[in-house]
Amino acid sequence: MTNQRYVVAAMFMAACLGVVAAAQQNLGGQFQGVELTTVPVAGNVHMVQRPGGGGNVGAFVGPEGVLLVDSLFGPLADRLVAAVEGISDGEIRFLINTHIHPDHIGGNEPLANRGVLIFAHDNVRVRALERLRFPRGGGRFAPQPPEGARPIVTYNDTVSFHLNGEEVRAFLAPPAHTDGDTFVHFPDSDVLHLGDVFRTTSYPIIDVYNGGTLAGTLDALELAIDMAGPGTRVIPGHGLRVVGRDAMVEFLDMIVDVRDQVLRMISDGQSLDEVMAAQPTAAYDAKWGQEAGWTANDFVPIVYHELGGGALYRR
Ligand SMILES: [Zn+2]
Repeated sequence: MTNQRYVVAAMFMAACLGVVAAAQQNLGGQFQGVELTTVPVAGNVHMVQRPGGGGNVGAFVGPEGVLLVDSLFGPLADRLVAAVEGISDGEIRFLINTHIHPDHIGGNEPLANRGVLIFAHDNVRVRALERLRFPRGGGRFAPQPPEGARPIVTYNDTVSFHLNGEEVRAFLAPPAHTDGDTFVHFPDSDVLHLGDVFRTTSYPIIDVYNGGTLAGTLDALELAIDMAGPGTRVIPGHGLRVVGRDAMVEFLDMIVDVRDQVLRMISDGQSLDEVMAAQPTAAYDAKWGQEAGWTANDFVPIVYHELGGGALYRR
């Protein structure tokens, strides 16, 4: 019951702030005047982003064509294409979706209409066959994506691209943000795109409505950290800056510390109300707790719930 109370409170707050509206398409004016920026990442990889919010897009460019990672919101698709044309003469040929959320697949249909071939994990396509649900606002529903937005090629494990003289590996991460999270690794350019498993703007969003888990979040981040070298550049699903391995370690350490504190409180028999009152994220709120739509009030109850279940605790 207490869990629900926090979720409801978060839902009300998010609704008041209009944050969830950002994930819906066809809101017209919301995207008026939005300008996308492009940032060189490393090698042949660039990041295209909407400074005001929206999933960061990876753009792998070269003479044989362009491969995109995620497609932002539908109304921004033309601007996404224009941004890519600003950094490459190559044709946009392939798109990988890191997961199902509307700010990462919104541009799928217009890109598919341009002949772009869309790849994603099997579970992304499965979720695209029904109306969407996403974690902000306590599990708010969004319309089913149009048929043209569905991934054409799906994989249950991994897929490799051989393009522009490089290999690009896309593979299923442990169930972290959702149960269809893809990590995209560009070993030659030394870049990782981690989708929303890793974000620099807020606590991790563990989307329990789409199969995300705390245990998987820890596993996925450990995997990414193990893959990263000292020079690896990491594109977060959200966040204005490209970062390195250290930022992932800091993010993981924070989650582990919060997890351990909450676990101790559960062992002491504390209720969720008591856990929230103890503010286990107090040391971190200034850095990760300032995004109005996803604060400690959203994150900690999910940690509490999963650890209370016991079975998912593995670390
Ligand atoms: Zn997401």
